[in-house]
Amino acid sequence: MKIALVGIGKIATDQHVPSIAASADWDLAATVSRHGSVPGVESYTDFDTMLAERPDIRVVSLCLPPVPRHAYAAAALRAGRHVMLEKPPGATLSECHALEAMARAGRLSLFATWHSREAARVAEARAWLAGRELTRLTVTWKEDVRRWHPGQDWIWEPGGIGVFDPGINALSIVTLILPEAVHLTGATLSFPANRQTPIAARLRFFHPGGAQVSAEFDWRQEGDQTWTIVAETSTGILTLLDGGARLIIDGAAPPAPEDGPLNGEYPRLYARMARLVGTGGIDMDLAPLAHVADAFMLGRREDVAPFHW
Ligand code: NAP
Repeated sequence: MKIALVGIGKIATDQHVPSIAASADWDLAATVSRHGSVPGVESYTDFDTMLAERPDIRVVSLCLPPVPRHAYAAAALRAGRHVMLEKPPGATLSECHALEAMARAGRLSLFATWHSREAARVAEARAWLAGRELTRLTVTWKEDVRRWHPGQDWIWEPGGIGVFDPGINALSIVTLILPEAVHLTGATLSFPANRQTPIAARLRFFHPGGAQVSAEFDWRQEGDQTWTIVAETSTGILTLLDGGARLIIDGAAPPAPEDGPLNGEYPRLYARMARLVGTGGIDMDLAPLAHVADAFMLGRREDVAPFHW
């Protein structure tokens, strides 16, 4: 299938372009970006022009930051195209619900991707936790914003969600692997005095079985980076490390599963999008975004030192 990639920046270049190139399902037929392009691929700077001139491209993948994304997604759906959304799927829950309604009305596929859910050991973690009694779950997501988001000012603007940009990856894993739904009961959000979004956050959740569920996100981590989820149960402890790439159960690392035909988070996302388009499916799980919205609603704000690149 022909696909157009929109917003040729860091994630499009690092992950989307190579994943599409390696897939037998997809043919990268056009890009849309004001500054970026992909060698050998027809490039447009205006989205409406691409939609009008390329009716043969039935699928678009949007790699823009969340705030501008809705206008592009709505235009694509209005033009009868299937749409794949980078995470987070939008800047607000309401705009995501509106996109889903448009997709349903137009019988189009819409995919809110959560790349961390496709990390190598996440599926095993989910299977191990099914049926176990959770007593405590602790998320620690600490990374250096200067290393991972150099110069990206949109993350500090309203809708850029700050440290929740990586933190929502942890929430996407938690909402997949836990058999029960949790909801936020309290949060502390640390805002640099000169910025509109938090640089750190501490979250607490209600768990229906009484487990203590908490998360700590911090963008001020230098040196070693930490993307860890520890799930303690009445029958053992599971630890997901490196954002879901490594798994330890009761102190031992279970052997990694045999490599399937699809290696990597983004190749698996594109394979799923191909299946969704093939079946007319919609996958818009907004649970991770709901927790972020709740944190902004319920969170206590504390001011911390100004942030400069
Ligand atoms: P980015 O490089 O800062 O931006 C991507 C592209 O979006 C830019 O190159 C720009 O292309 C376009 N863009 C930016 N602002 C725009 C606006 N106001 N209107 C229209 N186009 C605009 O960001 P990124 O790191 O690739 O992240 C994009 C999305 O992917 C985010 O939602 C992020 O959470 C997600 N993501 C990022 C990573 C990562 O490691 N960076 C990992 C996973 C997911 P032009 O200027 O050429 O139009």
